[in-house]
Amino acid sequence: MKEIVLVKYGEMALKGLNKKSFEDILTKNIKRRLRRVGKFVCTAAQSTLYITPQEETDLSEVIERVRKVFGIAALCRACVCEKDLGDITEKSIEYLSDILSGAQSFKVAAKRADKSFPMTSPDICRELGAVLLERFPHLKVDVNAPQVTVTVEIRDTNAYVHAENIKGAGGLPVGSSGNALLLLSGGIDSPVAGWMMAKRGIRISAIHYVSPPYTSDRAQLKVEQLCEKLTDWCGGIAFYCVPFTEIQEAIKDHCPEEFFTIIMRRIMIEIALRIAERENCLALITGESVGQVASQTMAAIACTDAVCRMPVLRPLIGMDKTEIIEISRKIDTFDISTLPYEDCCTVFTPRHPKVRPKTEDVEKAQNCFDFEPLIKKAVLETEMKTFNIG
Ligand code: ATP
Ligand code: MG
Repeated sequence: MKEIVLVKYGEMALKGLNKKSFEDILTKNIKRRLRRVGKFVCTAAQSTLYITPQEETDLSEVIERVRKVFGIAALCRACVCEKDLGDITEKSIEYLSDILSGAQSFKVAAKRADKSFPMTSPDICRELGAVLLERFPHLKVDVNAPQVTVTVEIRDTNAYVHAENIKGAGGLPVGSSGNALLLLSGGIDSPVAGWMMAKRGIRISAIHYVSPPYTSDRAQLKVEQLCEKLTDWCGGIAFYCVPFTEIQEAIKDHCPEEFFTIIMRRIMIEIALRIAERENCLALITGESVGQVASQTMAAIACTDAVCRMPVLRPLIGMDKTEIIEISRKIDTFDISTLPYEDCCTVFTPRHPKVRPKTEDVEKAQNCFDFEPLIKKAVLETEMKTFNIG
């Protein structure tokens, strides 16, 4: 029996004239994701992508990988049949034997993309339903809430039969919405923020600030592990690691303590902007959420935004920590994020940070010292690595 994987588009099915370009990006993303699994032909027709293996392949591995590709509403394994009710019936019995044996109720749903097929959809449902009932006499037909829906699709060259429907990752294909630079710490929030924006079709690059010897190599390694994990969903990620020690020491030596964090955040943004502009990113992404910590009050966010020349996307802004943790568990970044290595943000934290800083006060405090040469140097010494899909 020949088996393939059917992929149903999400939102992009509604894209009208642009649909073809979304489809091309999705196809490319799926092919990249399957490169290490085997050889496949991917064809698109009627808001469905057909992934046909060209050699003996573990389809559960295909499902596991494609489940994480954005732009997909649902996917399933399906059995390829002749466009003939006899073949469809015979293969349905064999292909779905386990699942139908274990179920109590079922229904048949038929879709006829090829209208020249001699039977109507209700005819197909009735005839196949009757044979399946005869063959699996313990089953009941339940058209409203069946445990198993046997779907028959009559398409151009073949018919397909399937029963399972796996939920896809949703969203839009990565690469269809331009590029953005994610400020990636080792914490719980920023990987989730990156994942959320990738879900909207944004290709993300990541920037991380390190302050050796105050932060350890292991802290950086942890962030690299997060990048690697994110590639399952986001595709390849360019990773920029910025040496931040001298800047943090200069802030500590020259600025009032109550503004340490906010000035540090403004300089982080300034460096991110320069890298983003150079790398054709149209926005920055952070994991901030209103009120979570002193540097994320509305006033503090206004002070950091004041130096930013491009949009800062903050997908977690209205979320509770518990909601963020739920996603981080789902995308499997939680266990890495909670490893106990320090972040540069926890170096020189003020005892009493200003909770409602005024932008002009922060500017004045920051102007006590000329940071420009240090910023230039940090950008110049930034190291780049690429993480590819595993
Ligand atoms: P996270 O869980 O993402 O670390 P957080 O709750 O710890 O967030 P902060 O430490 O205030 O919050 O950081 C806010 C945001 O600033 C982070 O979500 C991230 O986008 C960015 N950020 C913080 N530290 C770094 C860093 N060392 N490198 C890159 N970005 C950082
Ligand atoms: Mg943090």
